[in-house]
Amino acid sequence: MTFHGIAPGERPLIIPVFITHRGCTNRCAFCDQEAIAGAGALPEEVPGIVEKYRNWSAGDRPVELSFYGGSFTALPVRELGEYLQAGTELIARGLVGALRCSTRPDTINAGMAKLLTSSGFTVVELGAQTMSDRLLTEMERGHTADDTRRAVRMLKEAGLTVVLQFMSGYPDETPQDVATTCRAVAEMRPDAIRIYPFLPLAGTKIAERLQCKEARFDPVAAIERAADIFLAAQESGIPTIRIGLPKENLVETPYPDNLAQVVVAEALVRLAKKGEREFEIPAAWETSVAIAKKSGRWPQEAKVVFS
Ligand code: SF4
Repeated sequence: MTFHGIAPGERPLIIPVFITHRGCTNRCAFCDQEAIAGAGALPEEVPGIVEKYRNWSAGDRPVELSFYGGSFTALPVRELGEYLQAGTELIARGLVGALRCSTRPDTINAGMAKLLTSSGFTVVELGAQTMSDRLLTEMERGHTADDTRRAVRMLKEAGLTVVLQFMSGYPDETPQDVATTCRAVAEMRPDAIRIYPFLPLAGTKIAERLQCKEARFDPVAAIERAADIFLAAQESGIPTIRIGLPKENLVETPYPDNLAQVVVAEALVRLAKKGEREFEIPAAWETSVAIAKKSGRWPQEAKVVFS
């Protein structure tokens, strides 16, 4: 099987600007963006952040500015306009090549997709989380899986690249929930996905339910299900651009430091168990092959070619 990655040289430098919970129509049961990224930046702070990043690192890679950590397309009109203006001015000054954002699927419509395209956006990341309506309700997301399908279609029609973000291992997630997500990934064919194994963030509703033993969380299952989603995407030729949250602001997590490599190794072992013996793998994933080999579940006759 040939695995699909994005070579480091092909990745843009993404300058993240966090808009921490701005635009969010409700607070999802698992989410605390402040714990992940701090208070966020105001529109007038955006140019300074970009200049700082550019002084620090850019090289020859294309530079993109991304608005993360909230629901960009649901910002109040005036605030949205201020962030858009900051972004388009940075493009005009040649400091960034394109814009991207993450947002909720139920805040995308054809008009918004058109506005994003005409403002210099090339990529939209949707917080899909899961394609199981049962689990979306548990997460208190306030939207359905069909909202995600609709948003993907509209963004693609507008010519935008679509990245879907999924969460694996949410408390009491069932194998059926994950199977539903895996089928939907193959059907929707996003351009790429990100996978975030669930993290119990203190102060969130789900963390309180876990503390009261009203829900159950198993980090091992979260890793295995991340591997399920990763494999479903790979089998459809869809690259995974990230597995796990950046660790900088997180005090502790129940996962190993090399979470992404462990998830990919689990996927490799799983394929080998199904009888796959020939693997073409991006060179950047060499560590995952080493982890798979050490697992005691890797067939000696398996052949690996690094691309
Ligand atoms: S998951 Fe997204 S929509 Fe939900 S509260 Fe967090 S940032 Fe807002």
